[in-house]
Amino acid sequence: MVKFPSVIHAYCPFCRKHTKHDVNEVKGKARRALSKGQRRAKRHKKGYGNKGKYSKRAITQTKMASKTSKKVDLRLKCSDCGKMHPRSYPRTRKFELVKLT
Ligand SMILES: [Zn+2]
Repeated sequence: MVKFPSVIHAYCPFCRKHTKHDVNEVKGKARRALSKGQRRAKRHKKGYGNKGKYSKRAITQTKMASKTSKKVDLRLKCSDCGKMHPRSYPRTRKFELVKLT
């Protein structure tokens, strides 16, 4: 479990100096409904026969599915100019923003 402060002092590329930043964690963006790849997969899954690379087994065997941790997507909001910029955080299983008093 990683505990990360919800307010940090960080460099703002817009102000070009270190300012206070509010930290927000971005959780999985909703995907576009039925993109091209999704439509193709849906077509292959219909009916009988080998589902090939669209089968459940093939999907669970891929590298991404076998990983138990995720990279953390953070957005820092500058308290000076109010603009946001991203920051990445390395792979962790559990991540939590903590308010420091
Ligand atoms: Zn700023």
